Amino acid sequence: MPEAVAGARRLFASGATRPLPARIRSLHALRAMVTENEAAFEAALWSDLHKGRAEAQSTEIGVVLAELQHTLRRLRGWARPKRGPVPVALWPARARLVSEPLGVVLVISAWNYPVQVLLAPLVGVLAAGNTAVLKPSELAPATSELMARLVPRYFPDGVVRVVEGGVPETTELLAQKFDHIVFTGSGTVGRIVMRAAAEHLTPVTLELGGKSPVWFDDDAHLHQAARRLAWAKFTNAGQTCVAPDYVMTTPDRVPALVAALGAAIEDMWGADPRAGRDYGRIVNERQFDRLVGLLDGADVVVGGEHDRAERYFAPTVVTLPVGTGGTGIGPDAAYPVLREEIFGPILPIVPVASAEEAVEVINGWDEPLALYVFSSSARTRRLFEQNTSSGAVVHDAGIVHVATTGLPFGGVGASGMGAYHGAYSWRTFSHLKPVLRKPLRPDTLRFVQPPFDELGLRLV
Ligand code: NAD
Repeated sequence: MPEAVAGARRLFASGATRPLPARIRSLHALRAMVTENEAAFEAALWSDLHKGRAEAQSTEIGVVLAELQHTLRRLRGWARPKRGPVPVALWPARARLVSEPLGVVLVISAWNYPVQVLLAPLVGVLAAGNTAVLKPSELAPATSELMARLVPRYFPDGVVRVVEGGVPETTELLAQKFDHIVFTGSGTVGRIVMRAAAEHLTPVTLELGGKSPVWFDDDAHLHQAARRLAWAKFTNAGQTCVAPDYVMTTPDRVPALVAALGAAIEDMWGADPRAGRDYGRIVNERQFDRLVGLLDGADVVVGGEHDRAERYFAPTVVTLPVGTGGTGIGPDAAYPVLREEIFGPILPIVPVASAEEAVEVINGWDEPLALYVFSSSARTRRLFEQNTSSGAVVHDAGIVHVATTGLPFGGVGASGMGAYHGAYSWRTFSHLKPVLRKPLRPDTLRFVQPPFDELGLRLV
């Protein structure tokens, strides 16, 4: 493992990854790796998460390819040095802003989108001229093994290297010095990563999770909105960092929303989602058991069936009795399902008195990664935008912002730090270096150099 990092460092130090043509070659190699092995990626995702082909394309492979295309089209423009401003007092002088690569970047990924969250950051890492060490998640073993097999074939020069493994291997890896670390995973491990990075003063981008809330009052478009909400929630069996975590609505709306969600689920995944090819599975028994525990005390109103042998957990909607919102959400909430990020196919509907109360509930705990508002009222949409903080806000849809390449993707507060995608990846993985030239003639700097008289003026 130290050799993998040392090799990546030697290669970076040789300067081979810096020239623009070399960066473009690396991006083409990554594109070839993905496009020439689409079937193998789809098979790995099916094996790890029972991810169907269409979903594998739209939420994993397609996102990486879109990121590549966006970057390849704009890279030359991003890489061009920009003129920097120089104040009149310093004239004559010229300043440029030059983007330089950081060095060796470590990418540690989660298991839930094991292709996307490993390779989408890599696009920016390579575009900026760095070398990379990838640490896929051991909990998506088929994808991890595929990465370890393909990367050396497509990057024989070692611009990208893969280190497989779980906690011991990642711990050993984190003891090495990197120039940047991108971590996608839980807040608990995010803290471990940041502590290890601090030893080397390595900057980090932390892509974490949290309980992404939904406000729902869209009476006018109930069925369409409920369908979008159900799709965003139950894609990948709810194992999505930006999945809608819980829905707040007024008590009178609960029955209609439950009925609309039930109909939408059946429409998309059939009466028995287990039988179809389009519904995922829970990644492992540990997560499965945790999810079963989250049903404690809640009323299951849609779905609820689960089968440990198959790691099947039906798309499930639960309601919580009115008046239990007193403790809000967070570690002290009355119901387990409101105490932690659900990260699975359980959607609690939490009745609250008003949109204003929903804002209070959101502000009562950590900043979420995303906030979704389904409302026909511009006033209500503004209320949430202006009075809460979250990684992103999406109106009338869920999760789609992640696939919007030009937008920064990242959290705030407990949901993460830093952002990437498109130009924001370029910024994250480059150092923006000001280069200033102050000509020797005329020597205007003499005016700020001693000796000075008692008025602070220079003695000639
Ligand atoms: P995790 O934190 O358990 O694991 C993430 C990575 O850290 C894995 O590669 C794992 O091997 C490594 N790891 C685990 N324990 C470690 C330790 N003690 N020391 C060092 N390394 C360790 O997260 P997960 O279960 O893979 O993913 C779920 C979490 O990730 C959820 O909170 C979800 O919201 C979040 N997530 C965020 C995004 C995003 O882009 N913001 C995307 C996907 C998932």
